[in-house]
Amino acid sequence: MALVVQKFGGTSVGSIERIKNVAKRVIKEYEKGNQVIVTVSAMAGETNRLIALAKEITDLPDERELDVLVSTGEQVSVALLAITLIKMGYKAKSYLGHQIKILTDSAFTKARIINIETDKIKRDLDNGYIIVVAGFQGVDEYGNITTLGRGGSDTTGVALAAAFKADVCDIYTDVDGIYTTDPRIYNKARKLKKISYDEMLELASLGSKVLQIRSVELAKKYKVPVHVRSSFSDEPGTIVCEEDSDMEKVVVSGVSCNKDEARITLVRVPDKPGVAAKLFGAISAGNIVVDMIIQNSSIDGTTDLTFTVPKSDLKKTLNLVKAISDEIGAKDVLYDEGIAKVSIVGLGMRSHSGVAAKMFEVLGNAGINILMISTSEIKISCAIDEKYTELAVRLLHDAFELDKENVEG
Ligand code: ASP
Ligand code: MG
Repeated sequence: MALVVQKFGGTSVGSIERIKNVAKRVIKEYEKGNQVIVTVSAMAGETNRLIALAKEITDLPDERELDVLVSTGEQVSVALLAITLIKMGYKAKSYLGHQIKILTDSAFTKARIINIETDKIKRDLDNGYIIVVAGFQGVDEYGNITTLGRGGSDTTGVALAAAFKADVCDIYTDVDGIYTTDPRIYNKARKLKKISYDEMLELASLGSKVLQIRSVELAKKYKVPVHVRSSFSDEPGTIVCEEDSDMEKVVVSGVSCNKDEARITLVRVPDKPGVAAKLFGAISAGNIVVDMIIQNSSIDGTTDLTFTVPKSDLKKTLNLVKAISDEIGAKDVLYDEGIAKVSIVGLGMRSHSGVAAKMFEVLGNAGINILMISTSEIKISCAIDEKYTELAVRLLHDAFELDKENVEG
């Protein structure tokens, strides 16, 4: 008997009809003799609707209260799924994060899971129950409701799979796997059979919305194989797992883009020790994740410091930065929301040279100016003017021949 964790996204539970469809998939797994834990997102559009309500009141709603608000979306969908399963003749129970409990830290709107209690659910599973867990939510040590960040139900799924030592975590979503790039941007995008945790981690952090980045971090840490697949077909999707020899032998596996970042520049910052620490210390204390950072070499004792943050954190970041910029003696604070980041990712970069040069050449030949560059061992990212995003993705996809499957190397 296996233990399977299934996660269904918002589109998959977007209507009662679709919830019935989900229930059938759950039952199919259960009827194979497996124990099944299901976690679901809020019904499609619900989380956005709830956030919009709060934003009618204020641009910066109190984050503790925002979590109380948005966690209700998942409460509705777990109950509806459990009701459906019971109506279909099965034993099912829904649980909210605090009932289980899924213990998190207190970083409201982006909390991290610390521990999941398993005793109660193990007992239920042994008694033949199908367990339906609210995705995206937890509870901190003081009993406050927390949420795990947008897309956080993926993380709930993987964390449950890790805690219960599940054999697999199936992530059912509205796409049928991981593609070489977003098929809506380029019709030559190709579905990958397998992808390594590290590549997926880069793609997720680069803005691929298929899996929440923390879910991939957790999957990698606990070696949970994740199967990303469509909730509307039986076709196999993409397996996210440890690097192995039958993965495609290519330099670049995917091209991604992200329009969700904004650029902030502190102009003419005095070039002396402690300035960056003070600035980024304050930003990180606000739980804001900074992505690209550039500091110019200084001329006349000052330097420009440029960095990017998620657009959703721009206001909060500007408030923090403006409070500090006087203190550190910066002349001005500028920001720009019209940027995009285009990236190429691939394990093969570790052993091939000239990959960055080729990327810059492709962009240069198309007249696309590169605003910022950042690299890791298996990724190269360029910030560019947002209006060239799709063009850049297509050109890079062609240049690295990602439409062709390559298994020989
Ligand atoms: N409902 C939450 C969101 O929309 C969590 C999720 O869907 O994974 O972000
Ligand atoms: Mg999602």
